[in-house]
Formats: sequence, structure tokens, C-alpha cells
Amino acid sequence: MAVPKFKISKSKKRKRRTHDKISTPDLVPCGNCGLSIPMHRICPNCGHYRVRGKTGPRTRQVIEQDES
Ligand SMILES: [Zn+2]
Repeated sequence: MAVPKFKISKSKKRKRRTHDKISTPDLVPCGNCGLSIPMHRICPNCGHYRVRGKTGPRTRQVIEQDES
């Protein structure tokens, strides 16, 4: 089994891990109410979901959320 020849220093390890941070999600305005939401997600405010087809922008109304 391959064994590391030297210990990775804290500095080296931390420098490598500076690239491991997560990026902020891409927010797009909702086509119905304008609220900024992540792409490919149903709008939490109005339940709207935008579907783009080959012919152009299309919209589809998704079932309203239950208030239970
Ligand atoms: Zn919306």
C-alpha cells in the first residue's frame, strides 16, 4: 500500500483546501412574481416553475402548495 513519505503540513493542507469552498447558488428572478430563486426550483412564494422548450419560453403552473 502506498504510504505518504512526508506529513502534509497544516499550511500545505489549508492552502489546498482554499479551493474546496462551496459557491453561491445561481439566483434567477421568478417569471411570475420576480422573487430571486435558485435555477430549476419551484418558486417558494407562488409555486411557479418555468420550463423552456425548443420553441421559446413556456410556462407551466405547478400545483399550489398545501396550507396544512
Ligand atoms: Zn414566484
